[in-house]
Amino acid sequence: MKTCTKCGVEKPFSSFRKQAAGRDGYRASCKECCDKYQIKYNADNPARVREIKNGWASRNKESRAAYGKQHRADNVDWYKQYHQDYVAKNKAAVMAYRSQWQKDNKDKRCESAKKSAAKNPEKRNLRCAKRRSDKLNRTPCWAGGELDVLIKQEAFAKARQMTISTGIQHHVDHIVPLRGDVVSGLHIWNNLQILSASDNASKGNNFTSTEVYA
Ligand SMILES: [Zn+2]
Repeated sequence: MKTCTKCGVEKPFSSFRKQAAGRDGYRASCKECCDKYQIKYNADNPARVREIKNGWASRNKESRAAYGKQHRADNVDWYKQYHQDYVAKNKAAVMAYRSQWQKDNKDKRCESAKKSAAKNPEKRNLRCAKRRSDKLNRTPCWAGGELDVLIKQEAFAKARQMTISTGIQHHVDHIVPLRGDVVSGLHIWNNLQILSASDNASKGNNFTSTEVYA
């Protein structure tokens, strides 16, 4: 038995934590008193506690990363469900975050689009084929007149020239997308514009123009 120096109660040694440096190999105060002290200390010194925690986190970065990775691998379904629930509950915030992220990470999006195209060439080919057929379907019978053809050729030549002079890939783009969510544009000269590749990638099929194109 040992008497706690904090509460003065005599308790069995099992009620004390071990401390190699202690006279009898145990701490002076009992577990209960130690815990009370720790809780009070934490409440009184939030900044210091955070500091200690952060220090520990940065010293154990690798083991923490490994633990997190393993945990995610072991609980794939749980994480999936959690993510789905979170998105469902916070739809507006998630959408706002995504659209901001897309604006801020044009280069990353370009890069990942390239990567996925290289990974799934069939998918990309399918998309291109669909795009070509949409283009044909969106070319009205009265288009293709001399002026229309001339301006289209000019636009493609100009895009090529801009690519060469700026070193940044430029595309001829449809101002009103051919396959927009709200409206579909036509493959005619006054629906064309020249955009840099990253601008074009970030534009997607969003129809934002308020002008009316014939
Ligand atoms: Zn005590």
